Amino acid sequence: MHALPEFTLRRPSTLAEAAALLAAEPGARLVAGGTDLLPNLRRGLERPALLVDVSRLAGFAGFEALADGSMLLGGGTTLAAIATDPAIGARLPALAQAANAAAAPTHRSAATLGGNLCQDTRCVFYNQSEWWRASNDYCLKRGGDTCHVAPQGNRCHAAFSGDLAPVLLALGAQVELQSPTASRWLALQDLYRDDGAAHLTLGRDEVLARVRVPAPPKDLRSGYRKARVRQAIDFPLAAVGIAMVLEQGLVQSLAVGLSGTNSHPLLLQGTGELVGRVVDDELLRKLGKLVAQQASPMRSTVTPSNYRRQVAATLTQRLLRELAAG
Ligand SMILES: Cc1cc2nc3c(=O)[nH]c(=O)nc-3n(C[C@H](O)[C@H](O)[C@H](O)COP(=O)(O)OP(=O)(O)OC[C@H]3O[C@@H](n4cnc5c(N)ncnc54)[C@H](O)[C@@H]3O)c2cc1C
Ligand code: SF4
Repeated sequence: MHALPEFTLRRPSTLAEAAALLAAEPGARLVAGGTDLLPNLRRGLERPALLVDVSRLAGFAGFEALADGSMLLGGGTTLAAIATDPAIGARLPALAQAANAAAAPTHRSAATLGGNLCQDTRCVFYNQSEWWRASNDYCLKRGGDTCHVAPQGNRCHAAFSGDLAPVLLALGAQVELQSPTASRWLALQDLYRDDGAAHLTLGRDEVLARVRVPAPPKDLRSGYRKARVRQAIDFPLAAVGIAMVLEQGLVQSLAVGLSGTNSHPLLLQGTGELVGRVVDDELLRKLGKLVAQQASPMRSTVTPSNYRRQVAATLTQRLLRELAAG
C-alpha cells in the first residue's frame, strides 16, 4: 500500500449539504468510517480530489423503533452499535449477527451501515497494489480492457461481499437516498445492479440516509451464516441471511439473501414454491438447487467458483434446518 494521495476534506453539517458537495465536484467521494474506501485509495484504485466526511454528522448515527414495529437505522450507525445494542439484538438478531461477523472490532467501531451497503465490489485481480495491477495491464474494472476472470466477456464479475445486505434483503428493508434537494425511498434490492464495475444505482449526488426494516411478523425466525478463508477479519466467500415464519411445522414465508457470490447481494427467487411445506430433506434439496442456480460466483477469489456455489447452497440448507429446529 502507498501513502494516501492528496485530497481536500470537507465536513458538511447536513446530509443535503453533503449531497450538494458531491454534486458540485465530479471527483468527490463520500467517506464515512473509511474502512473500505481508505485502503482502496492507498492501493491507488481511486484518486478523488475531494472527500466529503460524514462520520461526525449530527443525527446520522442511531436508530429508533417506530410505533408500527418497524425500525429506522441511520446510515451513519456503526456496525459495533448494531452488533452490540440489546434492542437491535432482540428485534433483529440476524442483523446483529451479520454486523458482528464483519471485519474486526476496530473496523466495526468506525465502519457504518451506509458504508457496508455501499462498499465496493472485490476481486483478487483488483484489490491489489498499483504496481501489481500495472504488471497485469490492469483490468476492465479500472484502467485496462480485459477481465482476467472472464477474458472472453465484456463485463466485470467482481463480487459484492458485504455482510449486512443479505440479512436486510431477507427482512424486506428499504433505503432512503438523500440528494441536494430531495429524498426518495427504494427497496434495498433496487440499490444494486448486476455489474461488478458499477454495482450501485445510487446517483453520484446521493447519500444513503436511512434504512427502514419493516415490522417483523410474529414468530419470525432469522439468522445469518458466512463462510470465509480465515475465521476472523475476512469478507464472506459466500454468506446467507434467512427470514422465515413457520406455523405448525409448515413454512408460512421464506426469504433468503445471499452475499459474496454475485456482483450484487442477491434476493433468492422462487422461495414461494416452498411455502406450505414441511422443512424436510426434499424441501432442503429444492432450496439448495435454487441457490446453486442463482448464485453465480466467478474466479474472483482465492477459492474455486464451484466451491463457493456449493458452500452457498450448503450454508443455506444448514441455516434453514437450524431455524426450523428452533
Ligand atoms: C481488513 C478488512 C476486513 C474487512 N472485512 C469485512 C467483512 O468481513 N465484511 C464486510 O461486510 N466488510 C468488511 N470490510 C469492509 C468494511 O470494513 C465494511 O464494508 C464497512 O462497513 C464499510 O463502512 P465504512 O463506513 O467504513 O465505509 P467507507 O469506507 O467510508 O465507504 C465505503 C464506500 O461506501 C460509500 N459510502 C459510505 N457511506 C455512504 C452513505 N451513507 N451513502 C452512500 N455511500 C456511502 C463511500 O463513498 C465508499 O465508496 C473489511 C475491511 C477491511 C479493511
Ligand atoms: S472481475 Fe475482471 S474486470 Fe472485474 S475486477 Fe476482476 S479481473 Fe477486473
